[in-house]
Amino acid sequence: MSEQGGRDIGRMEFLLTLRRRGIGDQAVLRAMEEVPRADFVEPGFIETAYADQALPIPCGQTISQPYVVAYMTEQLALRPHHRVLEIGTGSGYQAAVLSRLAREVVSIERYRTLAAQARERLAALGYINVEVVVGDGFAGCPGKAPFDRIIVTAAAEEVPNALLDQLADDGIMLLPVGPHNGPQRIIRLTKSITAAGVEVKREELISVRFVPLLPGQAQEL
Ligand code: SAH
Repeated sequence: MSEQGGRDIGRMEFLLTLRRRGIGDQAVLRAMEEVPRADFVEPGFIETAYADQALPIPCGQTISQPYVVAYMTEQLALRPHHRVLEIGTGSGYQAAVLSRLAREVVSIERYRTLAAQARERLAALGYINVEVVVGDGFAGCPGKAPFDRIIVTAAAEEVPNALLDQLADDGIMLLPVGPHNGPQRIIRLTKSITAAGVEVKREELISVRFVPLLPGQAQEL
């Protein structure tokens, strides 16, 4: 069988696994089908690009497991007019999936190397509604706030307040919260601004394992 044929079978299994694990939103499944994960992994991992596992990327980081990308995307309840902020660009894969479902994605990465690679990759694939910014995700992107949706793809010990401030009325923010090497859970925060003030509903979702959200822009490349 040709290498391409082998990869196509990998991609069919990829979608079946997502469905089997409970991803039911057709638009999310279509986005997962459309974005070629093989283009976001390192050359040595192309053969396992469609396996449901996290894989290493440069700077000691990881591209998230496809199920977790699909799950978080589904839980964001994206609409085509939404503006989304992502913290932790990494390979750019999650940003690419978001870009298929929202109007605009701003993604912040603390490593210049990862940001530059992701920017190049996203442009080459034609995902023109993603802007990759080098910076500290703890500060968010106040110049472009408010955002309809915020997704953090690195684990924080606590919810960063600056991000919650940059969430629009009726906005949803998803983030993994927990100790760096311990149990983490995806938290969903829903914000509503009423005459009485700001209300935030907090829900605990699935258990996960993410790399840590680290303070400041990286001094290394
Ligand atoms: N969403 C990525 C996976 C990211 S892994 C993908 O689809 O490939 C988490 C990323 O968060 C890493 O690249 C890490 O460098 C970045 N990160 C950690 N702390 C950060 C911070 N404070 N600001 C911006 N990026 C951060």
